Amino acid sequence: MKLVIVGGVAAGATAAARARRVSENAEIAVFERGPYVSFANCGLPYHVSGDIPRRSDLLLQTPEGFRRRYKVDVFVDTAGMAIDRARTAAASPPTWCCSRSACGRSCDWPGRRAWRSARRGGLVVDEHMRTSDPDIYAAGDMVEFRQRISGRTARVPLAGPANRQGRIAASNALGLPTRFAGALGTSVVKVFDATAGMTGLGERAARAAGFDVGAAIVHKDHNASYYPGAAELTLKLVYDRRTTRVLGAQAFGGAGIDKRSDVIATALAGNLAASDLADLDLAYAPPYSWANDPINVAALAGLNDSSGFSPMVTAAELRDQLPDVCLLDVRSRAEYREAHLRGAASVPVDRLREHLGDIPRGRRIVAYCRSGLRSHLAVRILREHDFADVAHVTGGLVTLELAGGLAIDRGTEVAA
Ligand SMILES: Cc1cc2nc3c(=O)[nH]c(=O)nc-3n(C[C@H](O)[C@H](O)[C@H](O)COP(=O)(O)OP(=O)(O)OC[C@H]3O[C@@H](n4cnc5c(N)ncnc54)[C@H](O)[C@@H]3O)c2cc1C
Repeated sequence: MKLVIVGGVAAGATAAARARRVSENAEIAVFERGPYVSFANCGLPYHVSGDIPRRSDLLLQTPEGFRRRYKVDVFVDTAGMAIDRARTAAASPPTWCCSRSACGRSCDWPGRRAWRSARRGGLVVDEHMRTSDPDIYAAGDMVEFRQRISGRTARVPLAGPANRQGRIAASNALGLPTRFAGALGTSVVKVFDATAGMTGLGERAARAAGFDVGAAIVHKDHNASYYPGAAELTLKLVYDRRTTRVLGAQAFGGAGIDKRSDVIATALAGNLAASDLADLDLAYAPPYSWANDPINVAALAGLNDSSGFSPMVTAAELRDQLPDVCLLDVRSRAEYREAHLRGAASVPVDRLREHLGDIPRGRRIVAYCRSGLRSHLAVRILREHDFADVAHVTGGLVTLELAGGLAIDRGTEVAA
């Protein structure tokens, strides 16, 4: 078997190494148009920032190293320009693995247009990373495939999927059947001293995929507030209100973001529901987390919303519902004076029971607090006192201010 790999680095270099581990007899060649067959482009931003001072630390493997360890012929500074399909259809055709390179403008692969999807512009591959030509496989940023949650085609230009796909393409090319289950788009990025992470679907993508979307937003320190170094994180859990299936999550904060993103990515891979996340037995000690991890809290809030025990509205839903709702600010009077939603009445949660007679019964009531904890209690008090149409704002005023689009009055007197 001859295996020609066009493009090195993530998918290509992984495919070459895997191919050798599968077969000691295959003839394997890698054509890389750049000077490096394997380097850590994911590390480049950290070299630019000075965190990784030496650029050479990003070089992972050389052509000589590849030859010595894997018996692979590597041709750097050599671009693949075309596949002459007629000539490759000889008695023992080589199998081609293409990384992103095959999408390059300079290339002229036969049938290339036929492979491209009209929708995402990527190469269409099956679960074995095989293109419409049975002797040509593709992997990495160039391909599109089924997103695991939405079932829609997607391109996920990330290193993890590229590496796995390269490995899978090589295995299949050499007769070892392996499937790619699809990507979730789990990613994490350092933004100065903060971190942002995400996995699965966001609210909008989930809605477009036809789910009855709910979102639980939690603002909480990543570990016990009394332990030095606690940093607030924001976690948004997206779920299907009908089935409570977890659909995705986004997180942002000073610490603990990668952990929450990865736990929820695992939940997505297992098709877990909010009830499963609420029950998760996660590691706890004050330097690391809470006895009730933000994931547990978000899942419980999602369950309360889906079951109707404590319904929630997102910032977007509140914008749609105003001005036809009665807004209750259930924080302290001091917090209200500092900033509140225009038109909201101030009824601190600790005095709510005294003011039940002042709250209109025939209208929809939406309560909010800073982050969603006190407003949840307010909803429960109101529901127990037979207010029929009550909800609270997920993530509270912190989220509303971040989302924007709602009038906020600052430094004004209390309207109770
Ligand atoms: C600065 C930067 C930071 C990133 N950080 C992250 C991160 O933190 N996390 C993450 O998951 N992803 C990250 N990514 C994305 C990740 O690097 C890519 O998703 C991954 O490298 C894609 O793998 P690939 O094999 O498809 O493409 P590549 O790794 O780009 O490899 C394709 C290779 O093909 C070669 N080539 C192109 N045309 C030809 C041709 N005609 N003939 C021969 N060779 C050719 C190219 O020179 C290239 O070396 C980052 C990307 C960049 C650029």
